[in-house]
Amino acid sequence: MLTLPRFEWVEPRGLDELLDHLAAHPGDSLVVAGGTDAVPNLKHRLHEPRYLVHIGRLEELRFVREDAEGLHLGPRVTLTRLTREPAVRRDYPVLARAASLVAGPQLRNMGTLGGNLCLDTRCTYYNQTYFWREALGFCLKKDGVHCHVVPQGKRCVAAHSSDTAPVLIALSAEVEIASRAGRRTVSVEDFFVGDGVHNNVLKPGEIVTRITLPARSRNLRAGYQKLRPRGAIDFPMLSVAFAARMRDGVCEQAALVVGALAARPRTVGGLDALVAGKPLDEPAIEAIAKTAYSQCKPVINIAYDDDYRHEMVPVFVRRAVREAMGLPPRAPAGAGSAA
Ligand SMILES: Cc1cc2nc3c(=O)[nH]c(=O)nc-3n(C[C@H](O)[C@H](O)[C@H](O)COP(=O)(O)OP(=O)(O)OC[C@H]3O[C@@H](n4cnc5c(N)ncnc54)[C@H](O)[C@@H]3O)c2cc1C
Ligand code: SF4
Repeated sequence: MLTLPRFEWVEPRGLDELLDHLAAHPGDSLVVAGGTDAVPNLKHRLHEPRYLVHIGRLEELRFVREDAEGLHLGPRVTLTRLTREPAVRRDYPVLARAASLVAGPQLRNMGTLGGNLCLDTRCTYYNQTYFWREALGFCLKKDGVHCHVVPQGKRCVAAHSSDTAPVLIALSAEVEIASRAGRRTVSVEDFFVGDGVHNNVLKPGEIVTRITLPARSRNLRAGYQKLRPRGAIDFPMLSVAFAARMRDGVCEQAALVVGALAARPRTVGGLDALVAGKPLDEPAIEAIAKTAYSQCKPVINIAYDDDYRHEMVPVFVRRAVREAMGLPPRAPAGAGSAA
């Protein structure tokens, strides 16, 4: 049986109290919202904080508000609520879909949007017990100095496996960060950094206080596709978010984001040059799939074959674009064309 380490339980009654605590103990506090990722990680001794700071009852961080800027979501909004929230389903249905594909129902009831965004990176050599990791000499993400995936590498390439992050990037969402020193806002794309040891720009003492979906991203044509072993619960081994602004049948602007490959979701480059001013027809979809295949190269950071995941990139890109355009899935290979 895996037990929790010793810690002091802190439950701030308001945001001010939370920020005061984090300012006083920046390096030895772990924020916990739903706890669905943090608790297993604590049991594996991946985090060993002195203070466990529970924000799961902070009403100030649980809101859904609309204004001219867009839709503002509190980080404590649960994934289940996201799937049902009328404003999300009406204006950003792809986010409701991504949330509906996270884990299973119980985890979505507990799991929050903030926790999903700040999810720790995952790796075959990291999400293991202390005993297992010790036997291997640990790794540079925790307690060790070498990476087992890229042995000569200096950075951790563990995978960020959040389902909502690629969609939030494709929709140009922004995240507000707060600490006792003040507030700042960054795009969700810039929220992430390419080192899986700590893959976001949050500094000790800072937390996410808001996620904003901009008004200009309302009703984009968008799709989200996820490859996972068991449809009922698993993390993605590959995920693809696509969003496009269409006018009079031609594409004005498009974004394609591939997740679960590395420490940050990868925005596929050069898409606008490829499709702007054109209809998103079969040749365009094929061009997008080919570009994604050339830019996305999985490594063996999770327990699935990297070549297989690579071959699945164009398949899932085609599916995401077709979903966005309301096109039926293509017939499988052998029935006339490849999926
Ligand atoms: C069996 C299983 C399957 C899963 N499958 C999936 C899946 O398919 N897709 C997926 O995306 N996730 C999956 N998860 C992970 C997890 O359930 C979700 O990502 C969930 O949304 C995490 O939210 P939480 O509130 O429980 O986060 P917590 O566990 O409370 O926190 C996660 C991390 O975020 C930080 N954090 C939380 N809130 C804030 C905040 N406001 N500001 C700063 N930092 C914060 C915490 O410090 C912690 O580091 C799975 C988990 C399990 C156990
Ligand atoms: S990618 Fe390397 S450093 Fe990162 S968790 Fe895996 S083995 Fe450790």
